Amino acid sequence: MKKEKIGIYPGSFDPVTNGHMDIIKRSIRLVDKLIVGVLNNSEKSPLFSVDERVKMLQEATKELSNVTIMSFNGLTVDFAKDMNAHIIIRGLRAISDFEYELQIAQMNHKLYPDVDTIFLTTSIEHSYLSSSVVKEVARYGEDISGFVPPNVLKMLECKNIK
Ligand code: ADP
Repeated sequence: MKKEKIGIYPGSFDPVTNGHMDIIKRSIRLVDKLIVGVLNNSEKSPLFSVDERVKMLQEATKELSNVTIMSFNGLTVDFAKDMNAHIIIRGLRAISDFEYELQIAQMNHKLYPDVDTIFLTTSIEHSYLSSSVVKEVARYGEDISGFVPPNVLKMLECKNIK
């Protein structure tokens, strides 16, 4: 029997944007099973708790059958190992992303040679989207409905960050 190809897509997703959703939808064509890993990073102070981020991703991906959402602590490679994944998916928006991502991908491969990182370049219409920019725009009361899934829009409204 052919071995199932498992990929992880790690990130903060604070909150998930349409840019992340685009990467998720495109990467499920490359793997049999995609595990979106929500990083529980104690050094950052996120707007949404890790549970809220897991729930918002579950809701936003509920129509996609081969996607699972999980939280994780610690190193991405350890999460990959635990999930039996040999592929890490990351998105690239600009050269500035590339420099950092290249270094992390090489370190991850060094730590765990069985894992490789696949980079998906952003779709042009999402190239300017990041969680932090979306939060900043929302803070000033601008309409962000074109930037995040509808359930995330509601959760952002509930946070009352203005
Ligand atoms: P991190 O805190 O690990 O950078 P993010 O939640 O900001 O996590 O992003 C997770 C991944 O999604 C990263 O690889 C990032 O480059 C990618 N990403 C974020 N926004 C976009 C976008 N608009 N288009 C393509 N990739 C994106």
